[in-house]
Amino acid sequence: MHSFELGPIRPPSEAYSLLIRATRNCSWNRCKFCHTYKGKKFQLRPVEDIKEDIRIAKAIHNEIKELSWKSGYDGRIRETATMMLNNPPSEAYYNVAMWLYYGGESAFLQDANSLIMKTNELTDTIKFLKESFPDIKRITSYARSKTAAKKSPDELTELCSSGLTRLHIGLESGYDPLLNYMDKGVTAAEQITGGRKVVESGISLCEYVILGLGGEDKWREHAIQTAMVLNEIDPAFIRVRTLTVNHGMSLYDEIENNNFVRATDDKIVKEEKLFISHLNCHSTYVSDHITNLLQEVEGILPQDKEKMLAIIDKFQTLPAEEKINFRIGRRTGVYNQLDDLNDSGKRQVVKQLKHRLGLNGEQPDEKRISRIMERFI
Ligand code: SF4
Repeated sequence: MHSFELGPIRPPSEAYSLLIRATRNCSWNRCKFCHTYKGKKFQLRPVEDIKEDIRIAKAIHNEIKELSWKSGYDGRIRETATMMLNNPPSEAYYNVAMWLYYGGESAFLQDANSLIMKTNELTDTIKFLKESFPDIKRITSYARSKTAAKKSPDELTELCSSGLTRLHIGLESGYDPLLNYMDKGVTAAEQITGGRKVVESGISLCEYVILGLGGEDKWREHAIQTAMVLNEIDPAFIRVRTLTVNHGMSLYDEIENNNFVRATDDKIVKEEKLFISHLNCHSTYVSDHITNLLQEVEGILPQDKEKMLAIIDKFQTLPAEEKINFRIGRRTGVYNQLDDLNDSGKRQVVKQLKHRLGLNGEQPDEKRISRIMERFI
């Protein structure tokens, strides 16, 4: 049985990509709000090891194809991929089968900052991946702004030409005191330099923002300064997630010691409104994360800005009781959008859940709601 190495995460938009682990863990690993790689040492992987994983992925790909002929599906991959997904011999088989089921056209290089590899080694890896799987049209990876800022324009252009189509960067905030407090290890100016370099190289850029990162104190500055940084960068995508804290993060201790006060959902919605209203870029705004209260606030900027703000207005003008109802329904995964408040079946489920979770009070128990959110990360 074949197997290759897989890292712990990938962006939601890469759920159907072939995953190739180019490096292990995070080269920074200090952000207070992140637990993904805590206690794990960063390692560059030898290019020959990465190539060996690609060869194994190819062997699994060929095995699934052969199975298709043997099973009477005449080379049709989706049917055999489905068989494999029902009973995968390993995580690697599951990943290849899932990727093939969805067309086999994209790959994601793990872990947190593949751009830190020597440029010639990264281009070599990307070229080998493309040669091994000529049907792949999109190759993406995570990166840090600081690393992007250190690459020369020529290096980034070379990566683009070799086939690197998109970088996902965790901007989180554009407000320096907050970046500093959260130990993000980068300044707003470096975020702009890194982001601009990526955009100018022709590599598509997706910047991630954490709603609520400013807490109760800095939400206003966080919203405005983050928008200003993004206006300078003008990335193809802006993706938002909402701050969710668990025991594995040092921010958890800051909260316990009253050094950081979490923003309530109402405050975060206010912050998102301020953030969007200050955005003057030409980006696609995506809210594809379960932690976001108003996941339907999405669109292409600038033309959809008013439509997006109208959704926020709709939430803000709900009667207090309805707001609480929606928050609980969202946090328990029953509601997806505000119109679900009109669905009597879903309302009934939320009513039962409120009762079961002891959330019947007129004021929501913020701690309990935060705890419900922890299971999403
Ligand atoms: S750089 Fe990214 S992966 Fe690394 S600690 Fe910070 S948020 Fe986590």
